[in-house]
Amino acid sequence: MKQFDFEEERVKQEILKIGARRVLIQFPEGLKPEAPRIAKTIEKLGVLPIISADPCYGACDLATADAESLGVDLVIHYGHSRLVKYERFPTIYVEARATLNVPSVVEKALPMLEKWRKIGLATTVQHVQTLDEVREILTRQGKIVVIGDTGRLGYPGQVIGCDYSNAVSIAKDVEAFLFVGGGQFHALGVALSTSKPTVVADPYDGTAVSVDKDAEKVLKQRWAHVQEAKKAKTFAVLVGLKPGQKRLEEALRLKGKLEKKGKTTVLFVLKEITPEALMEFPSVDAFVNTACPRISLDDAARFRKPILTLNEALVVIGELSWEELCRKGLLES
Ligand code: SF4
Repeated sequence: MKQFDFEEERVKQEILKIGARRVLIQFPEGLKPEAPRIAKTIEKLGVLPIISADPCYGACDLATADAESLGVDLVIHYGHSRLVKYERFPTIYVEARATLNVPSVVEKALPMLEKWRKIGLATTVQHVQTLDEVREILTRQGKIVVIGDTGRLGYPGQVIGCDYSNAVSIAKDVEAFLFVGGGQFHALGVALSTSKPTVVADPYDGTAVSVDKDAEKVLKQRWAHVQEAKKAKTFAVLVGLKPGQKRLEEALRLKGKLEKKGKTTVLFVLKEITPEALMEFPSVDAFVNTACPRISLDDAARFRKPILTLNEALVVIGELSWEELCRKGLLES
């Protein structure tokens, strides 16, 4: 997979520096095909690599407990920037920066940005190194380019599925966003969190498209889920067991608030939140997901009952209006 930089030399040096004998390597879904090859390069150092084959969607999901139980010396986490502040375990991050051609797809996006002069940029960690070049391309077209940096994430302009603060912080200063990256999820997140027109320049498939219609569709679906949940009598508040997703205190507070509104409420803890797991509880009318917001959004159609984000649950209990929620952002924690 030549599209990504796996920093093999740095990884080798880090392993030798630590003197690790056994390492656990963890990859997000799209990069897993590379895992056996990388494991073999590590093995050549006389070190035992063990591949975590479980799903991994973010740096919130460090395989710390597995590392402890396997007695490894080091976790090597690929594909994400550091998120958990104080790892309980020696961990190195390999961000797997993409080596794709970004300028050509940005050129394709230009006609779609014609109407606006002030443009905000956002991207995932795989492409943060391209933002200066993207800025130059837009500036040459007479645009004013703004890149947000709240310091919450590793890099200016970076967004992750549950943190769009860099985009939100500049929303008032721009007329539209250009998101550089693959797929629609993060671009939709930018549109839903900022309420600004958003164009995605996708260097993986070389296309540039607006996500505005999809964002509208998602908003309508979420509104329908909130309305349905208002009728629910029994709620389950879901707490994720992945290290960076566990929000037990928020879940407990919400349980108290739902009960005050006369709703029967139970707490569920799960490692993986799947429709199959929740289907085992037919007496529950609606779920509130305090773990990864991506689950509520991406898989909504597969869950047969509303699976609200924390902020959507606040709309159900009347603590937040729908309009305030849209301003605050559907996906923000
Ligand atoms: S909680 Fe979800 S959106 Fe946030 S980093 Fe983890 S996987 Fe990504």
